[in-house]
Amino acid sequence: MTKCWAIARQDLSNGREGMFTFEWERSTDIIKRSAFGGPVLGVPEEVAAQETGKAYFQRVHPDDRDRLLTLVHSLTPEHSTYRTIYRVFCPMGRVLTVEESGRARFDAQGQWVGLTGVAVDITQRRRLEEELEESRAVLQRQLTEIETIYRSAPIGLNVLDPDLRFVRINERLAEMNGFSVEEHLGRTVRELLPDLADPAERLLLPIFETGEPLLNVEIRGETPAQPGVPRIWLEHFLPLKEGDRVVGISTVCEEITERKRTEQMLAERVAQQAAIAHLGQQALVSDDLDQFLARVTAQVAKVLKVEYCKVLELLPDSKELLLRSGVGWQLGLVGQAVVGSDRTSQAGYTLLSQEPVIVENLATETRFSGPPLLTDHGVVSGMSTPIRGSEHQPFGVLGVHSRSQRRFTENDVNFLLAIANILSATIARHRTEQEIRQVNASLERRVEERTQQLVDANQELEAFAYSVSHDLRAPLRAIEGFARIFQEDYGDRLDETGKEYAQMLINSASRLDALIQDLLAYSRLGRRDVQLVPVSVAAVIDSAIETLDPALRQRQPQVSVVPLPSVLAQRNVLQQVLTNLIANAIKFVDPDQPPTIRIWAEERDPFIRLWIEDNGIGIAPVYQERIFRPFERLHGVEAYPGTGIGLAIVQRGIERMGGSVGVESDGKSGSQFWIELLKAPDPGTE
Ligand code: ADP
Repeated sequence: MTKCWAIARQDLSNGREGMFTFEWERSTDIIKRSAFGGPVLGVPEEVAAQETGKAYFQRVHPDDRDRLLTLVHSLTPEHSTYRTIYRVFCPMGRVLTVEESGRARFDAQGQWVGLTGVAVDITQRRRLEEELEESRAVLQRQLTEIETIYRSAPIGLNVLDPDLRFVRINERLAEMNGFSVEEHLGRTVRELLPDLADPAERLLLPIFETGEPLLNVEIRGETPAQPGVPRIWLEHFLPLKEGDRVVGISTVCEEITERKRTEQMLAERVAQQAAIAHLGQQALVSDDLDQFLARVTAQVAKVLKVEYCKVLELLPDSKELLLRSGVGWQLGLVGQAVVGSDRTSQAGYTLLSQEPVIVENLATETRFSGPPLLTDHGVVSGMSTPIRGSEHQPFGVLGVHSRSQRRFTENDVNFLLAIANILSATIARHRTEQEIRQVNASLERRVEERTQQLVDANQELEAFAYSVSHDLRAPLRAIEGFARIFQEDYGDRLDETGKEYAQMLINSASRLDALIQDLLAYSRLGRRDVQLVPVSVAAVIDSAIETLDPALRQRQPQVSVVPLPSVLAQRNVLQQVLTNLIANAIKFVDPDQPPTIRIWAEERDPFIRLWIEDNGIGIAPVYQERIFRPFERLHGVEAYPGTGIGLAIVQRGIERMGGSVGVESDGKSGSQFWIELLKAPDPGTE
């Protein structure tokens, strides 16, 4: 202790940068300081060398004063040394932190008389210590945060050493793996999770070489947490480096089994919906049922990812079901193979239960046994549903089967039901169409037969009418001829009445002849084929006027014709039509009035309407339809001679040429007859 003080005294004279020694006399209250006291305390050297204790004490930081005072007063001869740290104000507002070690001096009576000590400026050190403390606290806080994240993160985290030993692992990952955090620590992936060891080593060991992270790796496997359940993880492996050396791997792991399952389910659902939409559309346009069934079974097998799909058709006797269509079955079976329809077969059971039936394992199935068709093909799982048919009998069964065990979902069942509905609607449509086709065919046959009978009857009638009319003319001409001879040769021997009778005989015979001729013309029109060619209407009108009855020509009719186009017609028929119309236009005019006829054309695409207007007696509207029928006449022969066939010939002739005919008249002042025929493509040519 004495030695220590000796050094202190020596320092008092020498001093050292950043520290100084001091002595304080209680009696004088003077503090003497060694060299460097001034620079340390920031006061002039002479102040530092000799300062009153009271003045110095005033510069001590108020927060430290009491402690310092208590400390100094607690010193006794037995406990005379002290060591403390306090702060002192220096000029310019600087605060100095001083570490002071000292000892109290006592007199013989044990009264203390002064202090001797060393003061060291530890401001810098103190600040560094504080900074250190602060950064330690920050670090600690960050560490705690990281720990918390590690512990509570909803994703799995771990750190592996180069032997792939678990150095750290969070609860989440430990739980995923099926072991506690403690059970993991210190053990390797291979020891704990042998199922995952191979892929883990293959992926991770190279990272120790390359130092490159490995991101977004999908790992599939099982863990002891859920044995037998295939699971999927998405993992990121990040190298932990010390300098350039990889000392571990930090793994971030997220289980995506559920997400993947949902994604897959969604994809399956979409594929099923697409198939339903597609087949639904095909169902509307398919005209070959077998082709459609083949397409359906192929599509269903593909969408459900099964080896077999089939449509069984319940045969009329209801005892067996025929393999009507399908995929996967051995060659030659489709269209041939049959299965029993009693409840001991899956198909029979399905028909009976009238709802979908699912089989997980045919070998352990107790509700029914697998028919040879299924067992021969190594079927394990399957699903079937009835296909609705008529009211009395279902059509059959739609089924799918797989060779490996398969758990069909509710979506799968709904898909199969939707397809069965499409099938049943399509089958119903095909059956109805077939029935309609059969009914149509028999109807067509009957119509053809009836038409033929009618044609035959008509032809017979026409032939009969023709030959009768023809045969009638010969004796008629004889009657007329002999009547004339009789009149000429025996006229002078007859009285007036006899002469009149002879004349009436001649008139009647010639009227009858005209009638027969008209009838023949009318009948001929119905029998001959009509050939349509472009015909110039103007030319035909000229010929018609030329061939008019002399009696009519005698009336000197005025005929005005505006330029007329060409029409599609058969010339001789058109000429007969126009002759009849012009003859009537002259004939049915009051005898004291000169007949005036106006002819013009009106375009009514694709037809030409030809108007023949007269200044005659007109036709009351009530008769305008009737006059076109054979033998319909509105006047007596005496007033207006005629047979009543003329307009019937007009109508038949025009209709045979694809046209139409009509009349307009107020019944008083003239008539306007019209005929309509197709316009000729090249006007003016014949
Ligand atoms: P027919 O001229 O030999 O009597 P139609 O068949 O040509 O026979 O005519 C039938 C009837 O229609 C005529 O009897 C007549 O009463 C009426 N008729 C035809 N054309 C005219 C006409 N231009 N004006 C008035 N009446 C007509």
